[in-house]
Amino acid sequence: MAKPLTDQDKRKQISVRGLAGVENVADLKTNFNRHLHFTLVKDRNVATKRDYYFALANTVRDHLVGRWIRTQQHYYEKDPKRVYYLSLEFYMGRTLQNTMVNLALENACDEATYQLGLDMEELQDIEEDAGLGNGGLGRLAACFLDSMASLGLAAYGYGIRYEFGIFNQKIVNGWQVEEADDWLRYGNPWEKARPEYMRPVHFYGRVEHTADGVKWLDTQVVLALPYDTPVPGYRNNIVNTMRLWSAKAPCDFNLKDFNVGGYIQAVLDRNLAENISRVLYPNDNFFEGKELRLKQEYFVVAATLQDIIRRFKASKFGSTEFVAIQLNDTHPALAIPELMRILVDIEKVSWEKAWDIVVRTCAYTNHTVLPEALERWPVDLFQNLLPRHLEIIYEINRRHLERISKLYPGDNDRLRRMSLIEEVDNRKINMAHMCIVGSHAVNGVARIHSEIIKDTIVLVCVFNLRHTQEYFHSHSQIMNSTMFVVLHKFSFVNGLSWRSQIVLSITEYGCPLCFQAAPGYHTAKMIIKLITSIGDIINNDPVVGDRLKLIFLENYRVTLAEKAIPAADLSEQISTAGTEASGTGNMKFMLNGALTIGTMDGANVEMAEEAGEENLFIFGMRVSDVEALDKKGYDALSYYNHIPELKQAVDQISGGFFSPSQPNLFKDLVNMLMHHDRFKVFADYEDYIKCQEKVSALYKNSKEWTKMVIHNIAGCGKFSSDRTISQYAREIWGMEPSLEKIAAPDDPR
Ligand SMILES: *Cc1c(COP(=O)(O)O)cnc(C)c1O
Repeated sequence: MAKPLTDQDKRKQISVRGLAGVENVADLKTNFNRHLHFTLVKDRNVATKRDYYFALANTVRDHLVGRWIRTQQHYYEKDPKRVYYLSLEFYMGRTLQNTMVNLALENACDEATYQLGLDMEELQDIEEDAGLGNGGLGRLAACFLDSMASLGLAAYGYGIRYEFGIFNQKIVNGWQVEEADDWLRYGNPWEKARPEYMRPVHFYGRVEHTADGVKWLDTQVVLALPYDTPVPGYRNNIVNTMRLWSAKAPCDFNLKDFNVGGYIQAVLDRNLAENISRVLYPNDNFFEGKELRLKQEYFVVAATLQDIIRRFKASKFGSTEFVAIQLNDTHPALAIPELMRILVDIEKVSWEKAWDIVVRTCAYTNHTVLPEALERWPVDLFQNLLPRHLEIIYEINRRHLERISKLYPGDNDRLRRMSLIEEVDNRKINMAHMCIVGSHAVNGVARIHSEIIKDTIVLVCVFNLRHTQEYFHSHSQIMNSTMFVVLHKFSFVNGLSWRSQIVLSITEYGCPLCFQAAPGYHTAKMIIKLITSIGDIINNDPVVGDRLKLIFLENYRVTLAEKAIPAADLSEQISTAGTEASGTGNMKFMLNGALTIGTMDGANVEMAEEAGEENLFIFGMRVSDVEALDKKGYDALSYYNHIPELKQAVDQISGGFFSPSQPNLFKDLVNMLMHHDRFKVFADYEDYIKCQEKVSALYKNSKEWTKMVIHNIAGCGKFSSDRTISQYAREIWGMEPSLEKIAAPDDPR
């Protein structure tokens, strides 16, 4: 069965064996075979590669179990402050390698699989990505879980176990086509269902105000079934929990009160309730006000708060100061009215006392200032789905406005600006305003972004009105440093047959010409088609030959990012200043030895500060220039008329040079750039081209280039998520991070 060994294999075997430990390897092999037999129910004659992957995953998982139980026992005994990270997205990617690295098992597993005649890397490639996120916001949540465990914080991630994560992107004739991400098809070895902790979540119904308090009656119930995934810290024996809820119809669903179609129809209708956790909304920086999305947001919040309160009631000290809830954007903002409802309606706490607890417990992270991304839910939708929460929000707002009118008598314009309820066309609830009023700490995701939100939404909403201490702190964030390592730099490029211009991901704003589009998002899809069309021309041009290729990397996701980012030499971070809250790809490239060409926006500002501005290629307008241009009025036509090169490029696009069979294909796109471009990209064009010329000149001088790379890598420490989480712990949660280990299961207690 074993393959003949090459010299390279033998060297690898020797070097690995030195580190792996013979006993460990023997045990791993035994356990691998045991799982193949007892868990997968296969022998080696019929086992598939996927069976081998599952056997390996289960073997590694066994090493987590004792640590996981021990960690939870430790928290129960020590009763430290708990932090709850609430997020509608956790963009985890793959788990096997991260687990092996954090448990120091990688070398031993490599050796064990090798001795079994298997290639570990090939098995790792079989694992599906847990693609439960769109991009930066979800990946941030995943990195934060890793860092919270590595820093010994008693932390829990709470979210939704979407049956379908972010869609798989196929490119067909240059167009994006979406496919469902059926990531659970073969089972998920990392999760453990906990049906014994199922919780009811209520929707719809009516509110009754009675002598002994407020009652929410005649609701429809959906059950929230928790699935737990272990989150190991880096070699500290800590394993925290990410708990994701799945929707389950109760056994009597539609059989009692809504029995119209009879038994068969009632059973078929269970799907309706279970649709709540069916699919992740593929919207990055975009608000889509659908009822199903509001149901998802309440579902995760209601189930999670029941869990938090159960754990709180079981704790020894029982102080509300020992609970922190962090809201990842406004998506879980209903935690604020829901906690009020539990405290006031169920626990019979006074409104004032309850509000004090809510504000001291909750903190909110803002992720964007783009108006199309801000959650503003129509009041009618709320009235129908969550009638009691609407009343509570009205009462929060009444008291909020009362305080403002005392401070600013007669200032009706201020009242209108600061209200949680917007009166434009249909009445809408401004969720960002609610989060700011209901939190003791608000932060942005980069220093410049924190400054911008202070000057805009926060100032507008609660100027001078803090309940407790106000925290603003800039921070930046990056993946855990084990995630993207420099190793891939050459292997990835060598995997392609020519030097390539690689287009990665991403969203429309700020990166006007590249991305993965949410389905139905027309402009975004047209931009993808434009990129692939330009690629078709360049890649088949006989004069250009093999000197330049433009590749659109299909189906960008965590696993692809881990391979592609370390292979890059130049990172383009070219958002119009003031539009990108932070960016995180910029930091990943920096860590991995790419140089940045970028605007003074988001975290680029702090990257330039850390590495030295002379070690980045900075171009274009600053935020103040953009504001000045807005005042003056942006006129795309004047740039088009005065920059011949720009005119030629635009004319080629609109004239069908890149789409000869459909000459008018990109007319609308060009029309947008010429007449309604919110991002004013032509204003940065000339400076961008000049800056690219500097890049090209420097690239020829590999010694100078390398020097700049070293300054960047040396300066990227600030962008560690461990650093960020330490700051959150101290400044927002009032907790002390620790690098201490707890005892491993095989250590004597
Ligand atoms: C980091 C990351 C993102 C976010 O990148 P930004 O540059 O912050 O937009 C999106 N998708 C994946 C897979 C990532 O790893």
